Amino acid sequence: MPSVLARRYDDEQPCVAHWDAGYWTSVRRATPSELRAVSVAVEGLPYLAPGLVDLQINGYQGRTFTDPTRRLTVDDVWEMTRALAADGITSYCPTLTTHARATLLHGVAVIASAFADSDAHRSCFAGIHLEGPYISAEDGPRGAHPAEHCRAPDWGEFEVLQEAARGTIRIVTLSPEYPGACGFIERLVERGVLVAIGHTGAACEQIADAVSAGARLSTHLGNGAHARIRRHPNYIWEQLADDRLTASLIVDGHHLPPSVVRSFVRSKTAERCVLVSDITSLGGMPPGRYETGLGAVEVLDDGRLVVAGQREFLAGAARPMLDAIRNVMRFAGVGRAEAIDMASTRPARLVGAAVPRLEPGAPADFVLFDPRAFDADAGTDPPRVAATYRRGLPVYQANAS
Ligand SMILES: [Zn+2]
Repeated sequence: MPSVLARRYDDEQPCVAHWDAGYWTSVRRATPSELRAVSVAVEGLPYLAPGLVDLQINGYQGRTFTDPTRRLTVDDVWEMTRALAADGITSYCPTLTTHARATLLHGVAVIASAFADSDAHRSCFAGIHLEGPYISAEDGPRGAHPAEHCRAPDWGEFEVLQEAARGTIRIVTLSPEYPGACGFIERLVERGVLVAIGHTGAACEQIADAVSAGARLSTHLGNGAHARIRRHPNYIWEQLADDRLTASLIVDGHHLPPSVVRSFVRSKTAERCVLVSDITSLGGMPPGRYETGLGAVEVLDDGRLVVAGQREFLAGAARPMLDAIRNVMRFAGVGRAEAIDMASTRPARLVGAAVPRLEPGAPADFVLFDPRAFDADAGTDPPRVAATYRRGLPVYQANAS
């Protein structure tokens, strides 16, 4: 039976974990003789952590899920999934953003068929995140979503999309500012879809009504908002104060200032925060202007990704989840275990996916972090992944080349 000897990410204790057929069978303290046998000091052991679960991945390395040319293929989906393993991602929500119905239909159908063909592929898939098109069309709240495709909730359209997705749409981010939004939310919740509030210009009462109707997540709270808003009340305070809402946060160092991250995490508590990368196809691309099919965007010298021609509105993110783990520790004083949980077990539980706990019976989806990844002097670099395993199989190894 395969096993790993490593330091647990939470209590730092050396442990031996065995798995069989993709699931943990035992996770226990390492014995002194097991430690002697590897002749490595405890501090030299890699950290064993749950696999990362990202609820918002728009694309990666030049590929995007929302492709108006409708050239997204099953191979593209697999390529992105393979590449994401280097960032510790064991499962994720491919995210489609606001566009014409035909574009979304193509996207959901390709994604659903990519993950349906085998257990190995299914295990990477935490469901589709439909971010839009039922969001605010106003400049600011809509972010980089094209205004002409932002629209009011349409249950008939959603049913067509969900059918094309073979029932795999698990998160819908919407703005409750439209008439009929609450009824729409209730129907989504009845169907087991996690409803998220985002890209909204809604009034506070509309936010409160959406939560009463069953919305449970704030998508990238503090982003997808007007550049200037009434100081209070407003839709950010309203969501921040409601304990029924978990907040997803983009902590890439650009989307939210450190003081806002700290305030959000303190107010929500880490228990009700999850980290998302919101990474796009331009992740890792050099500075410059790019035509994306969803409009022109620019990667700035400091790594920010903005809507072309201005500096105020971001157009998504270009850094992986690993940066968010490091940054939330730096910005909000969150400990290592808490930061990793915000990027792994918590989002998995929220979306109803398999939760990669380090416990017998849980899926052996895990990351081995470099032994020094979380040292106090590690600086601003993201924690280094030594290896990623999905259902007990190595899907990335840093030294494999
Ligand atoms: Zn967004």
